[in-house]
Amino acid sequence: MTRTERHRYDVVVIGAGGAGLRAAIEARLAGKRTAIISKSLFGKAHTVMAEGGAAAAMGNVNSRDNWMVHFRDTMRGGKFLNNFRMAELHAKEAPERIWELETYGALFDRTKDGRISQRNFGGHEYPRLAHVGDRTGLEMIRTLQQKIVSLQQEDHREFGDYDARLRVFAETTITELMLDGDRIAGAFGYYRESGELVLFEAPAVVLATGGVGKSYKVTSNSWEYTGDGHALALRAGANLINMEFLQFHPTGMVWPPSVKGILVTESVRGDGGVLKNSDGKRFMFGYVPDVFRKQYAETEEEADRWYDDPDNNRRPPELLPRDEVARAINTEVKEGRGTPAGGVYLDVSTRMPAETIRRRLPSMYHQFKELADVDITAQPMEVGPTCHYVMGGVEVDPDTAAALGGVRGLFAAGEVSGGMHGSNRLGGNSLSDLLVFGKRAGEHAAAYCDTAGRPRVSAGDLAAAVSTALGPLERAGGDNPYHLQQELQAIMGDLVGIIRRESELSEALKRLHELRARVAGVSATGGRRYNPGWHLALDLRNMLVVSECTARAALERTESRGGHTREDFPAMDPAWRRVNLVCALDGDGVRLTRKALPRMRPELLRLFDRTEMSKYLTDEELAEFDALPE
Ligand code: FAD
Repeated sequence: MTRTERHRYDVVVIGAGGAGLRAAIEARLAGKRTAIISKSLFGKAHTVMAEGGAAAAMGNVNSRDNWMVHFRDTMRGGKFLNNFRMAELHAKEAPERIWELETYGALFDRTKDGRISQRNFGGHEYPRLAHVGDRTGLEMIRTLQQKIVSLQQEDHREFGDYDARLRVFAETTITELMLDGDRIAGAFGYYRESGELVLFEAPAVVLATGGVGKSYKVTSNSWEYTGDGHALALRAGANLINMEFLQFHPTGMVWPPSVKGILVTESVRGDGGVLKNSDGKRFMFGYVPDVFRKQYAETEEEADRWYDDPDNNRRPPELLPRDEVARAINTEVKEGRGTPAGGVYLDVSTRMPAETIRRRLPSMYHQFKELADVDITAQPMEVGPTCHYVMGGVEVDPDTAAALGGVRGLFAAGEVSGGMHGSNRLGGNSLSDLLVFGKRAGEHAAAYCDTAGRPRVSAGDLAAAVSTALGPLERAGGDNPYHLQQELQAIMGDLVGIIRRESELSEALKRLHELRARVAGVSATGGRRYNPGWHLALDLRNMLVVSECTARAALERTESRGGHTREDFPAMDPAWRRVNLVCALDGDGVRLTRKALPRMRPELLRLFDRTEMSKYLTDEELAEFDALPE
């Protein structure tokens, strides 16, 4: 039998981004022995790449802001497909979580009177994003790590061991969740450097593994976003929801080809940047949909006045939610008004003094100077849509973050969870989501341990996990994992991209189905010591099943909403607003079922006016709306 190192914990947190670190802190504060496992280096998670900021209705820059306005914006951004309770908890708790970060040592940018500064972002009615220049994620991760170190120092004082109650296992990939009946019993994986195998026995697991962007070639996501947590949850018996909704961020770099997809933060537009086509026209004025017409300016003059006088003018259409801006750019390029490299222009150089640009957008200044030899204080950037964020994820109970679907002891927070953002996430709402639901997941995972007993990992299940993990190294003659990944990315990019059609989605499903046997038989050459080919071979089965969920749900949803655009069903259909598509595993395949969305409580519904709701609700729902008590 191959040697497997064993560890015992109360709570195992898989993922060391914002959600995972915040969950681990909470579990440790509840006194639980907690492990943090991270596929990447400690400190290198997507959270560290977040630029613009964290959305929280603190009202520091505009005192009219409050949790109700934030809730409304989030629901509008998600086109009312959000789990309302998650959006409510998020809007209410985000300010406290941001303040708490400062007690851990974070230092956000300040207003003139010394409060945490907040910036404008797409879809947010008021300036709401707490930020540190355009490096907010770095400060968030730095601070959470600092808190972890301080907790480890406390443990050292008490137990003489830094790792007594909180230990980090970096560069360690989990490939399987272990079950004892319908209960979580632990997690199994390997150390990336040595290739040695490792089993963590624990009654509670928090998934905080982030997203799925590496199923697409043009993406702002890095190598570790292969949908592992999504797939681990499916294999353990949990459900995924909203998998048809992928956010294509409107502004990724398009040139040079080697950096295509790298993010250009929305702060560029929040701070005054404008989008222009090759005719020099600010084209977004032509793309304001009816549902948003009341809130967005109709002329350049009004849009420009808004930056100095937001109370008496409407917002520039460049700040529409991301799905709207991405589709508009896609149309401009398709209709021949794009730039030579196939994007559109994003210009700050004519909008702000060079010094202000360098101060407010330092990362963007360096990114374009170093990667594209473009000086954004003097020239426009070239940008186009890039796969950025998955709204879909593990179906969870909103209050406890516990996974639904029948497996006990599994929790999920952050990008790997679904429901919070509905069909489209507003920028800045992820970083605050990580803190709000990371904390809740840690707290409830810890509480669950008190009643869970000690589930056992069976020898048979462990042997099966070992065999699956070593399979690619022991097989010869299978496909090369890099070729398979390229094929998968081509299928998803060409057939399940930003604009979708029935024929292409059916073709995608057929080709993904054909890939199944080849992914199951993939081979990797070399040994177990730091072998990226082997690692990718194991990631591929996760990418494949998650891609199938996306393609199947995209085919089923015959409407366009948020991050799901069907050319053959271009309108939003109120009947679909009430439906979540739920993916579960059925043998080797994916089973899709429909589930009614939870109904919003009357006092929350009352936050919206009837004219607005009439654009989203069915006639039956509108009648119920009219009958609501005052
Ligand atoms: P991550 O931070 O990605 O962490 C995932 C962790 O899981 C990593 O440690 C990874 O190694 C680990 N992991 C994955 N699989 C495994 C496995 N099998 N075994 C062990 N470990 C595993 N959002 C905002 O709100 N505001 C912004 O300004 C913003 N800017 C962004 C800029 C960029 C360039 C990108 C890419 C995203 C941005 N986002 C922003 C989105 C936001 O950063 C992410 O949604 C968020 O950070 C996800 O956090 P997370 O904790 O869920 O996952």
